[in-house]
Amino acid sequence: METEITERPALKKERTPAGNIPAMSSPVITGRRKTMVVIRMWLSVAFFIYRKFPNPVHFYRILSKVIGLKNRLTINNSIQKLAEVDGRFFFNINNNGWPAKHFNRLFEIEARIIVRKDVSNFENLRMVLIGLTKKCPLKCEHCYEWNELNKKETLSLSDHRKILQKFQDAGISQFQFGGGEPMTRVHDLIELLSTAKKSADFWISTSGFNFTEENAFKLKKAGLTGVAISLDHFDPALHNVFRGYKDAYHWVEQAAVNAHKAKLVTAFSICVTRSFCTESNLLQYMLLAKKLGASFVQFLEPRSVGNYEGKDVSLHPEHEKMLEDFYFKMNNDPAFRDMPIVIYHGYRQRLIGCAGAGSRYLYVDTDGYMTSCPFCRNKTTHVLDEGVEESILKMKAEGCGKFEILT
Ligand code: SF4
Repeated sequence: METEITERPALKKERTPAGNIPAMSSPVITGRRKTMVVIRMWLSVAFFIYRKFPNPVHFYRILSKVIGLKNRLTINNSIQKLAEVDGRFFFNINNNGWPAKHFNRLFEIEARIIVRKDVSNFENLRMVLIGLTKKCPLKCEHCYEWNELNKKETLSLSDHRKILQKFQDAGISQFQFGGGEPMTRVHDLIELLSTAKKSADFWISTSGFNFTEENAFKLKKAGLTGVAISLDHFDPALHNVFRGYKDAYHWVEQAAVNAHKAKLVTAFSICVTRSFCTESNLLQYMLLAKKLGASFVQFLEPRSVGNYEGKDVSLHPEHEKMLEDFYFKMNNDPAFRDMPIVIYHGYRQRLIGCAGAGSRYLYVDTDGYMTSCPFCRNKTTHVLDEGVEESILKMKAEGCGKFEILT
């Protein structure tokens, strides 16, 4: 069932003015407590590998490869911060939280690659992004789905069930639903999550639209893990202009409050444009994210796709350098230990390659076709058709044109 977008949604009259929401408690943990959690986590991983692969040679090879992989993916950075939400710990929004049975899947896949080499490209996926809907009430400056927005849906709830089941049957344990605005299809989303296997973490990317307290609790009960809320400026008026709707900022605040109440992990996503990219702006943004109880802040770089197609929006090297320095400062400098954890994909993509294009994740668009990522729209096979394995192989070989593919 979907919410028809016939006109911009009305908001309640008793609007909370921006900034009047009391500061929420921070889910971020650091120092000794974080260290103890990381030690326990590694011990549980070692025990898991030992139980599955008791041969001492295999055990040693797998453990050292897994540690090497962790160092490669974190660019030799030790984990300085974790987010603790509802009894679980998260170091990223793209990986399973710990503890959970499915947290170990990553290590099981790596172990099988090392010992048995029997992992298909499909099984090797660690995360799948799914375009749940084409509907959205906003008109964002940077929208990558612009050319599809508010067209007729082609995938029913039953199609989405089959898609999710296909990935879950292969063991994939991390999903992120977007669109469009997934909360326009909240009833379908609740249905989908309620009937999905619980051996996965589920996230949504939302503008905050329709993220009422009631919906937040229903989604949590159905199995939602976290919510990535788009917030593109700390100034409410400028966020509203960017998003093309006068009360878009109010939705963000309400969504953050409701996610917090429902014990969902909260991340804020920002498209860092050239004009926004100053240390002072970024710091003000981080302070607001902290106040709104965010565990994570995700920096996205503008790409010339969708509504930005044909426009010169890419960051310049000096912006990238500034963002990188800021990213390290927020995550590593003890002076910023209580700030949310910053995720900056662009930095890692430039350094070690992109994990999309089926290398570790891919995007299933709102028609059910696999593409490299939400930005690189190289439509390949429909995910419910034959030939998915070959398509992923081809996608990996062709790459995305902007970054090398992570091997
Ligand atoms: S970016 Fe997201 S919220 Fe904005 S118009 Fe596109 S789909 Fe809607």
